[in-house]
Amino acid sequence: MASRSIPFHRPAIGENEIRAVVETLRSGWITTGPRVKELEESFAAFVGARHAVAVNSGTAAIHLGLLAAGLGPGEAILTSPITFPATTEAAIYCGAEPLFADVDPVTLNLDPAAVERALERFAATKRVRVLVPVHYGGQPCAMERLVPIARRHGLRIVEDAAHALPAWRRMPVSGSDPVSPPPRGATPPPPGERWRMVGTIGDFTAFSFYATKTITTAEGGMVTCESDAGAELLRSLRLHGLSGDAWQRYRAEGSWRYDVARTGYKDNMPDVLAAIGVEQLKRAGELAAARARLVELYRDALAALADRLVLPGCEERTVHAWHLFPIRMREPARRGPLIEGLKARGIGTGVHFIPVHLHSFYASTYGYRRGDFPVAEAAFDGLVSLPLWPGMSEDDVAYVASSLRELLDRPTPAR
Ligand SMILES: *Cc1c(COP(=O)(O)O)cnc(C)c1O
Repeated sequence: MASRSIPFHRPAIGENEIRAVVETLRSGWITTGPRVKELEESFAAFVGARHAVAVNSGTAAIHLGLLAAGLGPGEAILTSPITFPATTEAAIYCGAEPLFADVDPVTLNLDPAAVERALERFAATKRVRVLVPVHYGGQPCAMERLVPIARRHGLRIVEDAAHALPAWRRMPVSGSDPVSPPPRGATPPPPGERWRMVGTIGDFTAFSFYATKTITTAEGGMVTCESDAGAELLRSLRLHGLSGDAWQRYRAEGSWRYDVARTGYKDNMPDVLAAIGVEQLKRAGELAAARARLVELYRDALAALADRLVLPGCEERTVHAWHLFPIRMREPARRGPLIEGLKARGIGTGVHFIPVHLHSFYASTYGYRRGDFPVAEAAFDGLVSLPLWPGMSEDDVAYVASSLRELLDRPTPAR
């Protein structure tokens, strides 16, 4: 029986979040209304985006982002196999096919060279409409290379930023770009470059506020974009295709007249949850700093295991959100026993992710199989995500590290 318990994740819910929910419940207005509007305005300001549109999940954010980018039946997206299948599911909702390119072996983000090769290979056979970079674990993809590739091939970009709040990447300056607040404490960019925050780079960026994410509303999501027409379409799509400023319909003083301009969805966020988000967003910088500090503690504590573990890297061009701390076993055969051993010591872990193309639905529907994306598959075989949440103590990290050391000092299990 484990004497301690360190769950894989625990949300950072404080008294302000609790008070905000109670106040909203007492206010007489519990679904989409003023709290959602407040969250959208503060979120847009936080990342430096022109628009932020709240929805009820990250999956809905990706789905509506893809629709707003014009994705339709018979078309395809190109994305990473190292993601949660919400990314690809959202494309399938649009009647589109999920295609993949392999990842970079260090960051597990889309490899721009593999993206380029895939687009050339599919040029004659598929109508690839949208590139969907997934900022794995919270580290922004190589957007300075992916954006030009997408433009050259006529693709829109919808980013899966479920892990990437707050996160920045150094990008070449171009005149009309939105300007994000710069990361605190990061080195100033060289001439001709600036720090761009995830949420201001692609055509649409989708965030998740699921319970385990860097900020949470229990369930929820957000789409950011620069386009006025895009934002208006998103607002319509999230609430039954209603035209105009749809949430007004819910206001007591709003007009009774409404028009359905298209078939939409029921993806709006309730005020009860937005109230949590408003409080969480105020703490986003502090929560990110706590994560980054725990990552440094893990690095120090695990450095001596470098012959058996690969620790996640952070590219110099990025400020990482550290949603995940995924280590990789150099000997994949040891992963299963390690996860079990940690569990017996009360330590929760996860595996992020089983490559999407290996799930039975994707294999049987699209004919994918092992061998199709070898870099992603080799990484997956050794991946284990360690607990990482802002309330963890220095002592918790030390306990996880010493447990890992003990388990890895055991002889290699027979295959
Ligand atoms: C969590 C997650 C999503 C989906 O977000 P929900 O809010 O759970 O719908 C999408 N993509 C990735 C990579 C995720 O981790």
